[in-house]
Amino acid sequence: MTSIDLGMPAAPPPTLAERRKTRQIKVGKVLVGGDAPVSVQSMTTTPTTDVNATLQQIAELTATGCDIVRVAVPSQDDADALPIIAQKSKIPVIADIHFQPKYVFAAIEAGCAAVRVNPGNIRKFDDQVKEIAQAATDAGVSIRIGVNAGSLDPRLLQKYGKPTAEALVESALWEASLFEEHDFRDFKISVKHHDPVVMVRAYELLSEQCDYPLHLGVTEAGPAFQGTIKSSVAFGALLAKGIGDTIRVSLSAPPVEEVKVGIKILESLNLRPRKLEIVSCPSCGRAQVDVYKLADEVTAGLEGMEVPLRVAVMGCVVNGPGEAREADLGVASGNGKGQIFVRGEVVKTVPESQIVETLIDEAMRISEEMKLAGVASGTPEVEVR
Ligand code: SF4
Repeated sequence: MTSIDLGMPAAPPPTLAERRKTRQIKVGKVLVGGDAPVSVQSMTTTPTTDVNATLQQIAELTATGCDIVRVAVPSQDDADALPIIAQKSKIPVIADIHFQPKYVFAAIEAGCAAVRVNPGNIRKFDDQVKEIAQAATDAGVSIRIGVNAGSLDPRLLQKYGKPTAEALVESALWEASLFEEHDFRDFKISVKHHDPVVMVRAYELLSEQCDYPLHLGVTEAGPAFQGTIKSSVAFGALLAKGIGDTIRVSLSAPPVEEVKVGIKILESLNLRPRKLEIVSCPSCGRAQVDVYKLADEVTAGLEGMEVPLRVAVMGCVVNGPGEAREADLGVASGNGKGQIFVRGEVVKTVPESQIVETLIDEAMRISEEMKLAGVASGTPEVEVR
């Protein structure tokens, strides 16, 4: 059996730009900004008062790779649920608070890692900034100033006529200045808009005017298909310039889907080590196997793989062998058979009916070798062409 080269790359894979230099803050155990990796966030959809359901969802998010989770705190009952949620969650919990300053203090006391406040909805917070800053400092809690186009400060809405990029930035920097007056700077900022063009412009403007870490988000991005594209385009445009320290993909879909998309965006830009990667061709008139089915079956069979494995599944012999050779593992199909490649060498040829199980067996074998060699992440892929 062919052995594989398990050597790690000499240098990290290249990125499109150096990260913008930002201040670093702590969200519990997760560092945000500075040289910390870009983190992935999501938000629970369960009523926060339903502690068990919320903790269950947080556990699912954690297992999917979520770094930080946010929970909504619209009522006293929700605030009352925070201590146990903050204590039992394995990842830092951010309390999302819009209207009631008292919940900010409750969240800090409850042990939440951070609190999100919305300048558009918290004008009555403004005269309590000093107390909030003091309580947050004492507890080591950070804050997110979360501006949202849908709840822009009415004063700025009147000034700009609509939630423009400039209006979002002015709102954020105004709120930031209130905290700065009290020497509090442990915050990150978001300026979300549903339109990726306005959103990107807002973050670009903001990044020119401050060095606070930035939480990227396209708000109300829509159902999974549209929201994934909007978020990928907007985050990609910003992250490709080094802008963005933590991201939240907003989808009208289960939050684990948000996390999967967020992680894939970061992996695609080499901002997070790649794990399993399936490289598959779109198929065409030359295909001699059902490429879609093959790709789906191999993807399903390898789901959850933690090592950096690139698997190529190719539909024919035109480009198949060449592409399969570039991957850690691959198949080039044709004439009812599949040539199985491991790191560029044909290790066996199997009947079409055995391609999937052979690829999965080989992937598991390589995965075990990688684990024994201490390879936890790198540059993986599964290709189907
Ligand atoms: S690998 Fe073969 S089947 Fe797939 S797109 Fe290319 S030519 Fe078509």
